[in-house]
Amino acid sequence: MICFLNGDYLPIEQARISPLDRGFIFGDGVYEVIPVYARRPFRMVEHLQRMQRSMDRIGLANPHSIEKWEALCMELIARNEGENHGLYIQVSRGVAPRDHAFPKESTPTVFMMCNPLRAAPAHWRTEGAAAITARDERWLNNDIKSTALLGNVLARQKSVEAGAVETILLREGMLTEASSSNVLIVRDGLILSPPKSNLLLPGTTFDVVIELARRHGMAHELRPITEAELRSADEIWVTSATKEVLAITRLDDQPVGEGKPGPVWRRMDRHYQDYKREVTGCEAPQA
Ligand code: PMP
Repeated sequence: MICFLNGDYLPIEQARISPLDRGFIFGDGVYEVIPVYARRPFRMVEHLQRMQRSMDRIGLANPHSIEKWEALCMELIARNEGENHGLYIQVSRGVAPRDHAFPKESTPTVFMMCNPLRAAPAHWRTEGAAAITARDERWLNNDIKSTALLGNVLARQKSVEAGAVETILLREGMLTEASSSNVLIVRDGLILSPPKSNLLLPGTTFDVVIELARRHGMAHELRPITEAELRSADEIWVTSATKEVLAITRLDDQPVGEGKPGPVWRRMDRHYQDYKREVTGCEAPQA
């Protein structure tokens, strides 16, 4: 695998960063994961714009313009084998003597790599997948796509241990998001999701889903969702760039609705796959 580190393209085994990098010491950095299908990035500009917003939120000057980032992504894809990737970008506040305060001068560390994007297990599409719930114990700036992911890591590990694919988070009895995805529910045919706020990451896949709902006349509403509404939903979906739109059919070991992917999910998934094909020319659904 060829990665990009501070201006150089090199095999990942040869990439070296200082242990004083603030990304390593403090988790002081931001990141993105852009899905690449058939060598074509999907919603690249939207991901790069979100990275800009994350940098703005932490006072980190973006080392590159959006156009330059696009060129770096295309070059990295060209230098790697494989058709489908999760293109990972990380920008940290750079190397400096250890001190919580921002260094007066530092050069951001820029790291990029192409991880393989694996296809979703076929049974996810026919049967859906299981999730659990947990208390959202993270901080109050989850709109920043920060590399400081300990809260998300601990939340995800709970579902790993329960044999489930995601941990859906509840803060003071209200749905926020999941450990690495956004959450939408369906009740009486209406698609519902919590509005964007500091409590959750504004998902690029979520935006696609809302755009497709509008385009295809599928009723949707953004409003706070209670734990009771989540637990009695007809359908639950989680969305992310790598999971796409995944139907959750068991929640905390209870069936969701009829315990199989529902009709609104089937319709949305079809629109999503059609849109992806339109944009990238890629046929196969991905995980
Ligand atoms: N929330 C969290 C906490 C995430 O880590 C992710 C995945 N990056 C998402 C939501 C979904 O975002 P996207 O659709 O842009 O992948």
